[in-house]
Amino acid sequence: TDGLTVRGLTVRYGGTTAVAGVDLDVQAGEVVALLGPSGSGKSSLLRAIAGLEPPPGGTVRWNGTDVTDLPVHRRGFGLLFQDGQLFPHRSVAGNVGYGLTGRPRDERASRVAELLGLVGLEGYERRAITSLSGGQAQRVALARSLAPAPRLLLLDEPLSALDRGLRERLTGDLCRILRATGTTALYVTHDHDEAFTVADRVAVLIDGRLVQVERPAQIWRAP
Ligand code: ADP
Ligand code: ADP
Repeated sequence: TDGLTVRGLTVRYGGTTAVAGVDLDVQAGEVVALLGPSGSGKSSLLRAIAGLEPPPGGTVRWNGTDVTDLPVHRRGFGLLFQDGQLFPHRSVAGNVGYGLTGRPRDERASRVAELLGLVGLEGYERRAITSLSGGQAQRVALARSLAPAPRLLLLDEPLSALDRGLRERLTGDLCRILRATGTTALYVTHDHDEAFTVADRVAVLIDGRLVQVERPAQIWRAP
């Protein structure tokens, strides 16, 4: 029971069933990609696990403890979206250090510096968010989401807003960073290459149902 255990998770919007009774496990330290076409229910499933959707059917557990009814901020999960949603009026350090309030100032500063090094933005502390490129902004958003060392990182198409070349480079970097930090992660994408590069296992979602959960080498690849 180490890690994430999802059982019978269901999400409905009025008459539409977006997620239909999904069972999914993510072991501690594992990176699982949630792959599927647009509209297959990936975001709804991720948001329900995060606690962002209205109470769904089914249960979400972490290390055996039921977190289904906990609010978002009490689950200890980190979130990263396509648009990193940085605070534009704060510095890079102000963004990365955001989840570290309450810790001593020097500890916070060294943690911020460590994370910026990890994402390849050493020395960017005082830079303004508005001065960053799209790729740099997503690196800062990744650093911010990793700062409190979340027990599970939930990523929803984190690279989709970037152009192709940048996306390929960042996919490799993201993979290395998740491994280096031992981060347990669930990674939503519609991109096969991204899923196969990043993940230990790939979970394929079609019409709100999981149809396959396998290691990348075992997954049937769409033509
Ligand atoms: P994906 O992330 O795979 O693109 P989504 O989870 O966004 O899929 O959507 C799954 C289904 O739920 C789609 O049919 C979508 O139209 C529907 N849906 C998603 N969000 C809402 C919403 N807020 N209200 C109504 N229907 C929604
Ligand atoms: P902002 O100007 O964006 O509001 P602050 O200077 O108030 O940022 O600092 C916000 C957070 O960033 C704090 O946690 C602080 O410890 C950290 N921080 C600020 N400046 C630096 C720096 N030069 N290096 C590392 N961390 C910093």
